[in-house]
Amino acid sequence: MKDHDQVSRFVIDNTPIRGQLVSLDSSWQKCLENCDADEHARNLLGQALAAVSLLASTLKINGDITLQIRGQGAVHLLVAQASSQRTIRGLVRQNRPIEKHSTRLQDIFDADKMVITINSGKGEPYQGIVPLIGNDLQDALEAYFEHSEQLPTHIWLTSNRTSASGLLLQRLPDDQEYSDEDSWNRVTQLASTITPQELIELTKKEILFRLFHEESVRIFDMEPIHFACSCSKSRIVNMIRSLGQQEANEILHEEGLISVNCEFCNSRHDFDPIDIEQIFNPSAEAPGSLSVH
Ligand SMILES: [Zn+2]
Repeated sequence: MKDHDQVSRFVIDNTPIRGQLVSLDSSWQKCLENCDADEHARNLLGQALAAVSLLASTLKINGDITLQIRGQGAVHLLVAQASSQRTIRGLVRQNRPIEKHSTRLQDIFDADKMVITINSGKGEPYQGIVPLIGNDLQDALEAYFEHSEQLPTHIWLTSNRTSASGLLLQRLPDDQEYSDEDSWNRVTQLASTITPQELIELTKKEILFRLFHEESVRIFDMEPIHFACSCSKSRIVNMIRSLGQQEANEILHEEGLISVNCEFCNSRHDFDPIDIEQIFNPSAEAPGSLSVH
């Protein structure tokens, strides 16, 4: 039976190569619950979520990693986030049908870059700008890995309505002599023979056997992944505070209450005039209570 909602690390013995496999299933379906984008846009989100899950696991950060594309195209926003707690969340927004002849990412988003933000839990977040090259995120990320100072990395991503899956291979610095110098070329060529269908349907053991049965592969314990949203009332309170009291009161005047919907998990947080007064004047007595001066 297929492995669900997990990321697993593996190493190929006697080579400087390590890898990871990810499968997102119910966590991915949860991200799709409020998604009305069409199939192509959904699949790009699935691939982005598989990618950030792999990268979060590779980087061993204590924080989160976010991939974001913003543009003026038919698909104008894509956000995929994975945390070191092995949670994912994401969204994709589409405002008109993707034109039939648009296959390049640059045309679909009308954007020329994606931004990868790594929040490592200490210091300022790191932001990497990735040119939006090719027809899918795999192409863009591969080009990025090739031109960045990072370890040589290859990534394979695929997604359909039920699953989003990915495979990542990385070559560690050669800090010891390996008997077999050609291993990186050989192993990445073997991995390139994986089909999207195999990546979605096979178990990790089947995938690794299918690709590397002539190598000696060791798989480490799998880590479960689930959907979770980091939105909270206190974050929204901070957001309202940053609007300033005057603007908050203007919204209250027009709408009667301030209602904030989280776009990732669709939960709704309402603030009435009493809540807003408490946010800006936390020491004030709640209206209606007795105060003795
Ligand atoms: Zn949320």
